[in-house]
Amino acid sequence: MYVIGNEEVEAVRRVIASGQLFRYRGGEGGETDQFETAWGAKVGVKHTIAVTSGTAALICGLAGMGIGPGDEVIVPGYTFMATANAVLAVGAVPIIAEIDESLGLDAADVEKKITSRAKAVIPVHMCGLPANMDAITAVAKKHGIMVLEDACQADGGSYHGKRLGSIGDAGGFSFNHFKIISCGEGGAVTTDDDTIYYRALVHHDGGCAFRDHAAEVTVPFYAGSNFRINEILSAILRVQLTRLDGILAKLRAEKKLMREELADVSGFRLSPVNCVEGDCGVTLGLLFDTVAESESFASRLNEAGVGCGSPYHSGIHVYWNWEPILQQRGSYHPMRDAYKQTDVKYEYSEDMCPKTKDILARTQYIGTSIDRSKDDLMDVIGKIKNVASSTPAGVAV
Ligand SMILES: *Cc1c(COP(=O)(O)O)cnc(C)c1O
Repeated sequence: MYVIGNEEVEAVRRVIASGQLFRYRGGEGGETDQFETAWGAKVGVKHTIAVTSGTAALICGLAGMGIGPGDEVIVPGYTFMATANAVLAVGAVPIIAEIDESLGLDAADVEKKITSRAKAVIPVHMCGLPANMDAITAVAKKHGIMVLEDACQADGGSYHGKRLGSIGDAGGFSFNHFKIISCGEGGAVTTDDDTIYYRALVHHDGGCAFRDHAAEVTVPFYAGSNFRINEILSAILRVQLTRLDGILAKLRAEKKLMREELADVSGFRLSPVNCVEGDCGVTLGLLFDTVAESESFASRLNEAGVGCGSPYHSGIHVYWNWEPILQQRGSYHPMRDAYKQTDVKYEYSEDMCPKTKDILARTQYIGTSIDRSKDDLMDVIGKIKNVASSTPAGVAV
């Protein structure tokens, strides 16, 4: 999705020429400091920590929330497995909940799955589609659990005027190769909460107690890890950030036109979107009444030369393919394995979230593009209309 060019080359050249690759050398105001300030301003949060990946951002967010062994964290059955892996990495158990037709967490199912051990819920803004944050936040508040937004696929997105990653207690972003902006591998954790911030800061930097800023840290130092980003990646991210609004504008304009043109086409509905303006516009969801219609449409559209696929087939993004989790192998060492640190017997099965499976199988995605002409987009829209109006072979409608 991302765009990269000479500006990034120049930024990297500048960092290498400076000889300062480490973020904590050379005092304040380095590339990483400046990126964190800019990202925090963009998202609208008090604190940002740039880290090495989206997974690291989620791990630091959970550590910041003080979550660990004996705790449960609710995640959707439709997300990249890293969301659930991050929960296991801090020693907590991921509880898998249903999604709704908007393809984000189903707040009603979250509520059903909250036990006395639940400490947090992770709504995931898949494909830049904002999850139903009003409903999820209300359930979380009612039960006194925290909210960590997984905004790894939603850099720059928003929900009713607030940026994704600023609505929950903390947010995690990814800048890996597949995301809206990228530095190859990278991430950021965002929060307004000082305690979450300082714990995450310590967790991401095992040397935190020895830094110049150590005196500011208001939580006890503990042995953290190392998820520190470096100045080269931060320099790339500073340039990437200047491209973000342009990328989102293009994706959103494509999706807006597709939504307008396809709103009244019979054969499918547009997948409901919780906040049309804030949606990143990465993909258009089409929702069919039956799986047979969904599959027939996809194969005919693919035959017509338009890329289209169901999120049901998105491999590691659907819970029934999370083999290490379904088999409850949470770590390399039994004493570090969340499933062995509790007397609670957890049960997962490939059919534990039937609603999620059904919705995903009835959904087809049409991708948007950042470099397509309007004529080419209208051609795609025309083909979708044609396929929708042609009688599907062997499918009862
Ligand atoms: C990409 C992604 C992550 C993890 O990000 P990495 O940078 O690859 O660690 C987490 N959650 C979701 C939903 C993602 O798409």
